[in-house]
Amino acid sequence: DLRVRFAPSPTGMFHVGGARTALFNWALAEQSGGQFVLRIEDTDASRNKPEWTEGIISALDWIGVNGTNPAFEGPYFQSAFEPQHREAVAKLLADGRAYYCDCTREDLVARTGSEHKGYDGHCRERGLTAGATRFRTPDEGVTVVDDVIRGRVEFPNDAQEDFVIARTDGSPLYVLANAVDDITQDITHVIRGEEHLGNAAKQVMLWPALGKRPPVWAHLPVIVNEQRKKLSKRRDKVALESYREEGYLAEAMVNYLMLLGWGPGDDREIMPWSEMMPLFKLDNVNSASAFFDEKKLRAFNGEYIRALPLETFEERCAAYLDPSWDRETFSKVAPLAQTRIAVLSEIRQNVDFLFLPEPAFDEASWDKAMKNSPVEILTGYLERLTDVSWDPESLKVALEEVGAMHGLKLGKAQAPVRVAVTGRTVGLPLFESIEVLGRERSQDRLRAALA
Ligand code: GLU
Repeated sequence: DLRVRFAPSPTGMFHVGGARTALFNWALAEQSGGQFVLRIEDTDASRNKPEWTEGIISALDWIGVNGTNPAFEGPYFQSAFEPQHREAVAKLLADGRAYYCDCTREDLVARTGSEHKGYDGHCRERGLTAGATRFRTPDEGVTVVDDVIRGRVEFPNDAQEDFVIARTDGSPLYVLANAVDDITQDITHVIRGEEHLGNAAKQVMLWPALGKRPPVWAHLPVIVNEQRKKLSKRRDKVALESYREEGYLAEAMVNYLMLLGWGPGDDREIMPWSEMMPLFKLDNVNSASAFFDEKKLRAFNGEYIRALPLETFEERCAAYLDPSWDRETFSKVAPLAQTRIAVLSEIRQNVDFLFLPEPAFDEASWDKAMKNSPVEILTGYLERLTDVSWDPESLKVALEEVGAMHGLKLGKAQAPVRVAVTGRTVGLPLFESIEVLGRERSQDRLRAALA
């Protein structure tokens, strides 16, 4: 039975790349009736914080990777398995697959005459009974990582030193702990980021030395930004949480992340998880780096927003509106906003003019909109609003007529009115906005703009 794992280190905000890795693993577990193991790799105490662990769990929950599905197992914590890690080191020592070493860096540099040479095997036959523990690697030939995505990757053994698996104090190193956990948790497929390929070259030796056939390896392509640079938390917006806060829908996020290095194979891109999950195949994952295109993600999110039932859309918007804002008024413009916004947080700037005593004016929009005869237009329209019939069509015709008197087409005549009423140059359809705002308040705003 297939058993995969997702093994994040809680050292920071949960990254979109981590979410992609989790989803690929999740898709395989779900489609095959296998298990997905969540293992928090918390052994680096100096870099871990409990809140990062909580962040990982809640972010996974948000994208649907959680215990409500029987495929989910865990979370386990790597720190709890230290006895097993130590036991594995002891076994490798007892079997002669590993040995103690007390060489210092300086010793090695003095012997090899170089700062850059790997360990020279000095302690291999010394029979020490204490020190750091090194795993004995072959001197000749190649070590092969047979990777589903990258094919046969060869690592020349003369470039692979006898690597350390435990420190002098006996504490196991990450590369060992990670393999031991995969072994004891019966993991069949190790699917993780490309940056771990070097670890695979070591782990592919550790597995048989610990008595097990290595798993299927799959190293996922790096995710890059517009400059084709690896996404990084310093340069790029990478935290899943910030997308969530901005009003990206989990469904859109999941859909988009699945396409980073994989595709369902036809031209369809917008596809719900339920349809995508059964189609996912590791063999079809691309080895080329995947471009994280925020614009495309935005477009996806817009599509998912438009597909929401109106009521759900309104509910999801609530987090971005002031609780004091009248829900009924909002409901009147919600359908107009639903077709226009790409992320939920944009709802606020689209509707705030209805609720604020004065619209939030933005200097630049104001100057831009006030180019063509604004005073004549505002004055003329203000007058017409007194007796025009209160529906969008009549409101539009009235402005058309005022514009025509000053030689302006509707588009030009709209600009100052829009800014006066809403504070912005772009937004919801103007005449519907005026209709909802009401006669008196609309007139007040035109008067205020003229003052
Ligand atoms: N803990 C590692 C990380 O966060 C993952 C290691 C693995 O998947 O094997 O990058």
